[in-house]
Amino acid sequence: MTTIFDDLLATNKVCAASYDGAGLSRTPARHLAIVTCMDTRIDPIGQLGLKRGDAHILRNAGGRVNDDALRSLVLSVQLLGVTAIAVIGHTDCATAKITNESVRATLIEKGVDPGVVTDLDVHPVGDQQQAIRDDLALLASSPLLPHDLALAGFIFDVETGELEPVSS
Ligand SMILES: [Zn+2]
Repeated sequence: MTTIFDDLLATNKVCAASYDGAGLSRTPARHLAIVTCMDTRIDPIGQLGLKRGDAHILRNAGGRVNDDALRSLVLSVQLLGVTAIAVIGHTDCATAKITNESVRATLIEKGVDPGVVTDLDVHPVGDQQQAIRDDLALLASSPLLPHDLALAGFIFDVETGELEPVSS
């Protein structure tokens, strides 16, 4: 039986024939890092006019600057030449439609031991604009980052493909 992984490997063999990344620097050419959601409808490279080698792109559920995103951004900025960070949320985000309680209930319904979900925090996003403002404030005040970083927040509209700035 062919699995999705077999498909990926086969497709990669075709794609590798036209691979153009050899010789690129590990330093992002646009000195840019993007934190965004894992949502399948967001394609930062395709929708922002970027290309391979231009930017670090960090993705997680909700596009939040959590501890691990901050860890990566510290390396981006302090070791790899990044001077600008964009935090990009999007419309119709799943993390804006859940609560910790609803996710815990779903996991228990699926047979997960209730004892292990008691403290589960999936970081639901109540007010998306405010969440982005909070994450930008976190970056601006981090003692691990320089204070002259360029920071901006945006919401990507999954219906129109347009990016709207988040007001400060
Ligand atoms: Zn999302």
